[in-house]
Amino acid sequence: MAKKIEEFKKEKEIFLEHIQKAGLRRTAQRDLILEIFLRTEAHLTSEDLYWLVQKRDPSVGHTTVYRTLKLLTEAGLAREVRFGDNKTYYEHHYNHEHHDHMICTECGKVIEFFSPEIEAMQDAAAEKFGFKPTHHSLRLWGVCEECQQKASESHPSMPSGAQPRVRVRTVVGNKLLY
Ligand SMILES: [Zn+2]
Ligand SMILES: [Zn+2]
Ligand SMILES: [Zn+2]
Repeated sequence: MAKKIEEFKKEKEIFLEHIQKAGLRRTAQRDLILEIFLRTEAHLTSEDLYWLVQKRDPSVGHTTVYRTLKLLTEAGLAREVRFGDNKTYYEHHYNHEHHDHMICTECGKVIEFFSPEIEAMQDAAAEKFGFKPTHHSLRLWGVCEECQQKASESHPSMPSGAQPRVRVRTVVGNKLLY
């Protein structure tokens, strides 16, 4: 699962080129934020990333983390994704295959999936309307397998049609971030 060092090298080059174009300086703090972002294979808010960065360098401010994430997005290294809890999450974009998401409204687990059939159907639908899609984000909200099992063990679920609150749980590797 660990990414190759040369890959990070390419990503670092892309970032450096981008900040130079933006008229910004390369700083140790930005380098650290990039490094930690690249090493974390997860959906992270800027808050999540801030706490990870804090463990390594408590002098890095939240604003710096937020701005750096914006730069990473502009540079095409990160992409934004939303799961319906009014937060913006970031995930790796560069060299990462397109995928869509399923979000468990009970435990907040986010499952990544890819379906060539669905992708093809979306393209066909767009073509029918003479629409040129640039990107898309397909999200399914529902209840994951584990939570369905838990629910059937305890008591019946909420009335259908009720809009559950989404609370996304950030998982890094197999460990909860906090
Ligand atoms: Zn898709
Ligand atoms: Zn769940
Ligand atoms: Zn994802």
